[in-house]
Amino acid sequence: MEKQLKSVLFGHRPKKTCYHPHASKENCSNKISKAHTIQRNGGLSHLQIGGEVIQFEPSFHSIFTNKGKLEPKPVGVKKASTFLGFCSYHDSKLFEPFESHDFKDTREHVGLLTFRSLCKEIYEKEDKKLLHEKVLTFLKANDNNKYVEISLSLNPYLAGIDMALSETYDLKKKLDTCILENNFDEINFTSIHTNVFTEIMLSGAVAPEFDLHGNRLNNLEFPLNINDYIAVNIFASENEGRILFSWYGKNIKNEQFVNSLMEPQNNEFSNRVFKMAFEYFENTFISQKFWNLLSMGKKKKIQKKVMSFPGNRDAYCFTSDNTKYVKPWKINKVIESYH
Ligand SMILES: [Zn+2]
Repeated sequence: MEKQLKSVLFGHRPKKTCYHPHASKENCSNKISKAHTIQRNGGLSHLQIGGEVIQFEPSFHSIFTNKGKLEPKPVGVKKASTFLGFCSYHDSKLFEPFESHDFKDTREHVGLLTFRSLCKEIYEKEDKKLLHEKVLTFLKANDNNKYVEISLSLNPYLAGIDMALSETYDLKKKLDTCILENNFDEINFTSIHTNVFTEIMLSGAVAPEFDLHGNRLNNLEFPLNINDYIAVNIFASENEGRILFSWYGKNIKNEQFVNSLMEPQNNEFSNRVFKMAFEYFENTFISQKFWNLLSMGKKKKIQKKVMSFPGNRDAYCFTSDNTKYVKPWKINKVIESYH
């Protein structure tokens, strides 16, 4: 039984799809490429040693229990941050503006990057849902005593995925329209340029639960509005580190979230962003050199952040841990584009 279940889990192959708004049998190329969520020239190479960076890769062991620990693992830079979410034709065509050129703080570049971060989130959620359903089908078919127990524990989880999927599908429809009409006026962002490359890079989209001071912004147990989601991209461009927050339409909560992180006490911005990267995002990559030099105590604290999830997240996660993980990044400039 255990062995069979393992084979269901480990035999699971990620699906291949194309999320381009024009995707169809006729319009897509046959090949689904490994689409990068952090630009190919976006700096992962700055984090690597021997072609590898560090990631807390989501593992199967955490599927049945939230106690399952995620472990840091080396991952090849060519594979890191990729997902099978675009055909090779649409991948190279849609993201050409900043894959073949430098990234600019324009609504178009930010909008396209926001779209890609969102597609990655949708992809991960769809894949998780598929895998969970496979496990449930397997347990049901095997009439296992554990079935009732496990299905009861998985049902709310699946309902949560379904709710998040329907919200992110709605947001994707809006971003599809931006792309189809080539109109990115509704994209808002804060782009922060730093004097050094950041020790971590990531790409993702979430609805932040709390601001810096522990004020609740979103409750993920209830349906959210599409503009409650915020995309975060941390990468490198033109010899600077980049921290980019972006969202669709007017959203005061997202402004509050970003502005609270940027409050100028004690040069803490870099460590707040660092904590956010592990609290909120799976698609986070760490510099090998930096990781190797971290103390075991700091590594354990980071691992704990990786394991936090909606419902158990510390409202004061940005301030209750005073640990200095990274040296302050000097901010070269901040570009805000709000409605
Ligand atoms: Zn396509």
